[in-house]
Amino acid sequence: EEERQEEKDQAGKLFENFIQASTCKGTLQSFNLLCRLLDLDPQDHETFYCSLKTRLTSWRAKALWTKLDKRTCHKEYKKGQACVGTKCLIIGGGPCGLRTAIELALLGAKVVVIEKRDTFSRNNVLHLWPYTIHDLKGLGAKKFYGKFCAGAIDHISIRQLQLMLLKIALLAAVEFHVNVEFVKLLEPPENQENDGPGWRAEIRPADHPVANIDFDVVVGADGRRNTLEGFKRKEFRGKLAIAITANFVNRNTTAEAKVEEISGVAFIFNQKFFLDLKEETGIDLENIVYYKDNTHYFVMTAKKQSLLDKGVIIHDYIDTEMLLSSENVNQEALLGYAREAADFGTNYQLPTLDFAINACGQPDVAMFDFTSMYASENAALVRERFGHQLLVALVGDSLLEPFWPMGTGCARGFLAAFDSAWMVKRWAEGRTPLEVLAERESLYRILPQTTTENIGKNFEQYTIDPGTRYPNLISTCVRQNQVRRLASLFHAI
Ligand code: FAD
Repeated sequence: EEERQEEKDQAGKLFENFIQASTCKGTLQSFNLLCRLLDLDPQDHETFYCSLKTRLTSWRAKALWTKLDKRTCHKEYKKGQACVGTKCLIIGGGPCGLRTAIELALLGAKVVVIEKRDTFSRNNVLHLWPYTIHDLKGLGAKKFYGKFCAGAIDHISIRQLQLMLLKIALLAAVEFHVNVEFVKLLEPPENQENDGPGWRAEIRPADHPVANIDFDVVVGADGRRNTLEGFKRKEFRGKLAIAITANFVNRNTTAEAKVEEISGVAFIFNQKFFLDLKEETGIDLENIVYYKDNTHYFVMTAKKQSLLDKGVIIHDYIDTEMLLSSENVNQEALLGYAREAADFGTNYQLPTLDFAINACGQPDVAMFDFTSMYASENAALVRERFGHQLLVALVGDSLLEPFWPMGTGCARGFLAAFDSAWMVKRWAEGRTPLEVLAERESLYRILPQTTTENIGKNFEQYTIDPGTRYPNLISTCVRQNQVRRLASLFHAI
């Protein structure tokens, strides 16, 4: 009896470490220790969550199970039986890859996520739409991160979001591998019996166990530089847009707490602010956003001439890549520019503007070119080779690149994650490739138009079923004969 109590106490402690872990590595370590202590194998994905639940009964754990149980009850998951036997590979452990992984795991699929890095280090802050806040709270966000969207806060740092989603994914028995990079898809070999290998992934390191898994579904969630072949990309070329992000240390003092955030949308219309800024500092901006999060985070779109005038950009080139190449940027001047804009934007109320340090040990300031933004022409396709079919999909920035100052990345990213999970469910039901793809493309047509205003208002009802999220949905606007090309990529690799 005593021994049992001791094990319980220890498990409770390890669970607490897992909940509190503040790094990717720490999360994985504490999760593995917990599984070892309880003698549970997370690879038994069909039983893992239930076993864990019966073994971890501290009040903290129970409070989380209550939340998660409510989610797993969605009828779409069919009690975790909807996609039993479907094996899914997700490329990239960013917010959208992880969010997709969780949904697929709740549907009962076997889910493997590969992530080429081993740290979550992005301080930059994502704007969250009300539905995403509701969604994340429903997954127990507050249990992992007590400060999550408290009060009127509607944002979160990318790293904090990844951390929280990773923890939920692990509890849902998603396999997560760091330091594993996707290279390309490998076709099933020719002339094999039915039980020969199916579709696999070439990865680095090549001898990693994931290289030996056959997959039915592959999801590209590897960010704007999508590595999956077969997807044509549309380019939206606007006028030159140069964005700067900057993160300053937040010491959480009362003085800092008093400073007001700047929400971009409202500010775009405040012409006087931008005129004053220009007059006083020579800094010329089109917009600026400031969020007080783990860091003081700023994102602004700067006009080229002012960057030249202030010596941030050295030579004026037509080619944007050359214009913003590291040789053509004076880093010190860039730091000065960002700090000055931040200082003016907050009315000089932030007491110390010390830069936070990024993953490379440098002040966390970056300049990005948003002149061209990319979107994939299609959201999914089906490959078939020697009788093996593979459903291939894109989510997140790989599918539709967001304009950061508008903060649509995570919101539209999660919608696409749900739509993709819905597609996998359809696929597992045995619908034909044409049916599945036509529906997916119909939904994808809606995505770039979604706003906080025109999506469903009843967040409580949101599920992966698109009808719960998109009012006036016509899920047959793309017809099956329009997706024939996507359903017959036999030799295209
Ligand atoms: P990402 O978050 O980009 O995640 C992709 C993941 O895939 C990464 O973890 C990457 O390491 C991994 N990966 C890439 N290639 C491979 C491969 N071959 N094999 C395995 N793994 C791979 N949005 C904002 O709104 N505001 C910001 O300030 C902002 N700053 C950003 C800064 C950076 C440096 C980046 C890359 C993105 C930023 N974004 C910002 C965009 C925002 O992060 C995304 O919209 C959001 O995180 C959803 O993206 P995602 O999950 O689709 O992709």
